[in-house]
Amino acid sequence: MSTNPFAEIPSVDALLEAAAAPGGLLERFPRSRLKAAFNAELDGLRNAIRRNESCDLHIEWILQAAARRLEADDRDRMRRVINATGIPLHTNLGRAPLSCEALEAVRDAASGYANLEYDIDSGKRGRRGHAVETILRRLTGCEAALTVNNNAAAVMLAVNTLAADGEVLTSRGELVEIGGSFRIPDVIATSKAQLREVGTTNRTRAADFESAVTPQTRLLLKVHPSNYRIEGFTESATREQLVDVGRRHGLPVVEDLGSGSLIDLSRFELPAEPTVQDALQAGVDVVTISGDKLLGGPQAGIALGKSEFIARMRKNPLFRALRPDKMTLAALEATLALYERPDEIAARVPVLTLLVATSDELRTRADRLRKALRSNSTVTATVADSEGFSGGGAMPMERIPTVVVEIESSAMSAQDIARRLRMGRIPVIARIRDDRVVIDLRAIFENDLPLLAELINEALECVT
Ligand SMILES: *Cc1c(COP(=O)(O)O)cnc(C)c1O
Repeated sequence: MSTNPFAEIPSVDALLEAAAAPGGLLERFPRSRLKAAFNAELDGLRNAIRRNESCDLHIEWILQAAARRLEADDRDRMRRVINATGIPLHTNLGRAPLSCEALEAVRDAASGYANLEYDIDSGKRGRRGHAVETILRRLTGCEAALTVNNNAAAVMLAVNTLAADGEVLTSRGELVEIGGSFRIPDVIATSKAQLREVGTTNRTRAADFESAVTPQTRLLLKVHPSNYRIEGFTESATREQLVDVGRRHGLPVVEDLGSGSLIDLSRFELPAEPTVQDALQAGVDVVTISGDKLLGGPQAGIALGKSEFIARMRKNPLFRALRPDKMTLAALEATLALYERPDEIAARVPVLTLLVATSDELRTRADRLRKALRSNSTVTATVADSEGFSGGGAMPMERIPTVVVEIESSAMSAQDIARRLRMGRIPVIARIRDDRVVIDLRAIFENDLPLLAELINEALECVT
């Protein structure tokens, strides 16, 4: 170093010129961001010199440091991750992956213009969500349907439309909280209705609803207790009984089915979930479900049932604030269309493809994955049977068999391995159990196995 180290510091212009070389940083980052990153690095170097620390002033080194800084800034941008948690409907990881058909429909609708609210036959204004409603009528026999941004919004719109300024009767056993701050009492309060709790935590009978009805009662609300179960001495009013009470008092019955499904999952040997059709056939007036849980579509809330009530919900000004965009509707419509070919549904709707994979299939994949991992004297990978959950408030207590690859190292803690997996070029999100990293095969697509093996190998590379 010369006598004046400050004079050795490269200028921002020199750094930018180096970044402009073919294959240089300007191809990866905009000029303004690079400039800011260079300035930050140069500030750091000046401070280090002032503290009499030795530092590397080579242009190449500063370019690399700036690149690392910008990469770190970009790490929390939305991007693909590999879900090795085993939970196919992981809310934090975006719930249901979309089918090819849904993706294609989004591209088609969003890359140019679409008949979102335009009737091609008449050349006049059409109704947003019309096609989704038509398919839902065919699939479920409902009279009418509407789509909003999520199921929380659907419940809120139903309660606000049908019960504002009046009372909603709900069983004490169904005043649930679903992950992500959805609490039935809060939703009812926000919808400007008064909650009237019926029965007890473990037992609520039809007669309890009957005797709770007052002139202020506007609505009977049934909620699918998605994520918990009360066991032991329990009783709850069936939806048939609620419908009966509703009929006799002229009150609508709304059921929040949560995940809901349009097909009977027990035919795939999955735990049975109540279907939308079951609820409608029992006479429920309005059923609400999520689009991105077991249905396997985009985030959306669907309300379906009697046209009298759906029409009132559609006229509520709140609906305007909750209406979905063209991408959501395109993806939902394409997803629902797949249900018109029930024989192909498990192959086409990704979340069902994941859920129906048998333990034998998962074991074969786990063996493939384990064999693709580079052997290393300090790392062991073992295949083991395990149990998991579907997530998304579906099949809450039903454990689904799964297969995992457990990774442990004598040179690195499970926490460190899990962190390296998260920090790779495509983050792999895994669980930790008994100081082992657990790669659960349930939510990993078969096509992603070679990539996953590479990512694990890269994460373990420096562990020797
Ligand atoms: C998941 C769930 C909700 C919330 O649905 P979102 O689509 O996430 O808004 C509401 N009620 C029940 C019973 C649920 O399972």
